[in-house]
Amino acid sequence: MAQFDVIVIGAGPGGYVCAIESAHKGLKTAIVEKRDVGGTCLNRGCIPTKALLHSAELYEELKKCEKYGINVDGASFDFNKIHEYKAGVVTKLRTGVESLFTANGITLIRGEGVITGEGKVCVDGEEYTAENIVIATGSVPAKPPIKGLELEGVITSDELLEGEAEFDDSLIIIGGGVIGMEFASVYAALGCDVTVIEAMDRVLPTLDREISQNLSMILKKRGVKINTGAKVTEIIKNDDGTMKCCFEAKGKAGEVNGKRVLVAIGRRPNTAGLIGEGVEIESDRGRIVVDADFRTSMKGVWAIGDAASRIQLAHLASAQGIFVADKIAGGECHIDLSLVPSCIYTSPEIAAIGMTEDEAKTAGIEYKTGKVLMHSNGKTIIADGERGFIKLVTEAQTGRVLGATLMCERATDMLSELST
Ligand code: FAD
Repeated sequence: MAQFDVIVIGAGPGGYVCAIESAHKGLKTAIVEKRDVGGTCLNRGCIPTKALLHSAELYEELKKCEKYGINVDGASFDFNKIHEYKAGVVTKLRTGVESLFTANGITLIRGEGVITGEGKVCVDGEEYTAENIVIATGSVPAKPPIKGLELEGVITSDELLEGEAEFDDSLIIIGGGVIGMEFASVYAALGCDVTVIEAMDRVLPTLDREISQNLSMILKKRGVKINTGAKVTEIIKNDDGTMKCCFEAKGKAGEVNGKRVLVAIGRRPNTAGLIGEGVEIESDRGRIVVDADFRTSMKGVWAIGDAASRIQLAHLASAQGIFVADKIAGGECHIDLSLVPSCIYTSPEIAAIGMTEDEAKTAGIEYKTGKVLMHSNGKTIIADGERGFIKLVTEAQTGRVLGATLMCERATDMLSELST
């Protein structure tokens, strides 16, 4: 029976950062992973989508580069090669994380971890003990109870990013959140006929309204069809093998056909089977309940990242991992976790932090807004950028920045300064 100071379950950006930080603090650390090191983010999330976006954006640039004085005849793409490039990026990063484990003396245990008691983790029949266990098991795509969702031809981001390189000339995306809109951007840039079906009254419903309006307009200009306030009722496989998505919008029935259906309606905590028989750790519909320091209801067990957090972002999972490693080592972590920057890599990019105007209004705060339209900004003109803006929400009396929303070239880079 091997004994550790810390056992982390799950090697995604929450878990691997927590393990490395724990090892840096001199704690004897092990990490358990049942799939690939790097978790969702590295293998079937942030990194592969951004690799696909990079190729798609380059292709789009090439198609219009004549206006920059550059002639490229017959620009085309090879989807197999795009996938190979994406896989190469993923492998390189995954190998990098694995070598960080070796370099920091972290024991990597491959298999499924189950918490079998206080300080006990069982992996494929082998028992390990530790004073501290960190749950970092992440999330998996949520599947709503829609008729036809089990049909071949209905996929999630997991299959799309990990599966065969199959380019669809038409794609129906259920869900106009971040994941859905990034895929809409990739596929539209490659010439696919994309339809988005979103149940809320706008895409990206948690962001500033103007972002939703602008992005919808830009994507519609690129040929993407967007149905909002539309609830999918059934998915049917047509005789010719294509898929039909039936939906209801504003009391009327509608339908749309496409080669495949991508379900991107959110993610649920990946905690099924994690907690052994007779062990009790408080959870709420699979999400592990934690206090402000990420302690669960069981002594010595902590939970971070998508398994415990309502905001599901890689950098938040990592920041929580550092925070918990510090706490375990008896230190005081000074990371401010109250403000979480978020970035969306559509074209143009979108980035946000803090309150939106709607949130300030609802909170009854006296606020002001300030907005700069980016169409007269030099960098935007040079890059032939679309309609974009930077909007700040400030406290009326003091001018203190409450929130910022950006939609423009390099928005995701510029957000850091506003976060500070
Ligand atoms: P995960 O990354 O999900 O890792 C959990 C790991 O735990 C997995 O490897 C899993 O196999 C393992 N595991 C689970 N149960 C067990 C067990 N019992 N035993 C052993 N191992 C186990 N976030 C961003 O910040 N920026 C982005 O641009 C971005 N893009 C995204 C694009 C897509 C398509 C998706 C799906 C997600 C994206 N995200 C993005 C979200 C981001 O991927 C997650 O927030 C992040 O991966 C969460 O990290 P985590 O460590 O909590 O969990």
